[in-house]
Amino acid sequence: MPDKRQQGIGMTSQRTRERLIQRLEEAGIENQDVLDVMRRLPRHLFVDEALASRAYEDSALPIGHGQTISQPYTVARMTEALLDGGGPDTVLEVGTGSGFQTAVLASLVRRVYSVERVASLSERAGRRLKKLQLRNVRLRHGDGALGWPEYAPFGGIIVTAAPAGIPRVLVNQLTMGGCMVLPIGRPDQQVLVRVFRTETGYTHEILEPVTFVPLLGGVV
Ligand code: SAH
Repeated sequence: MPDKRQQGIGMTSQRTRERLIQRLEEAGIENQDVLDVMRRLPRHLFVDEALASRAYEDSALPIGHGQTISQPYTVARMTEALLDGGGPDTVLEVGTGSGFQTAVLASLVRRVYSVERVASLSERAGRRLKKLQLRNVRLRHGDGALGWPEYAPFGGIIVTAAPAGIPRVLVNQLTMGGCMVLPIGRPDQQVLVRVFRTETGYTHEILEPVTFVPLLGGVV
């Protein structure tokens, strides 16, 4: 039996969550495993208590340091695109943020590695994942633009902040045939792309327009 806070009441209740899942389905999310995980995970524990009542709206919310927890639709879409791209065994996430996308991934793949440049966000995410007993996650405070060479190659990579273009450093940390889902482009004209590593480099396809915070350099 999950504890009371994880279960939620009122605006964080199972009924409210179910409405969000319906919305995601209407918006075109088809992967039932992804929908099941999003139905189960308490997103309200990944935002400040003051914002908990808005946790099951389909919108991005502030998490401090000028950063946001991604919109549920976007989390679902990126996860679905990654799984459909080959069902990776290990996934690198760049931009842990609140840890919500991390928790979704950890519920669906064997092992997740996630890098965050803001130390306090990384620490907070770590506490949440621990509380949810998601133990197949390793977090690191560092510059995710460099990937995580010690654990490479990864079957999948998800980037939750937008670089200007497809980062070669990250492509090189994919397994052959491995898949990376990421937003690229300037803040006002970003697109979500899916990249596959090939023997000769990579191929990519554009999925849809998106809005993300920019991928920044250095750590804080
Ligand atoms: N998946 C997160 C998204 C958070 S927003 C969530 O849903 O909560 C993107 C995150 O990427 C921010 O926390 C930001 O600090 C982080 N970020 C930006 N540039 C980065 C970099 N170079 N390395 C690691 N993290 C970075």
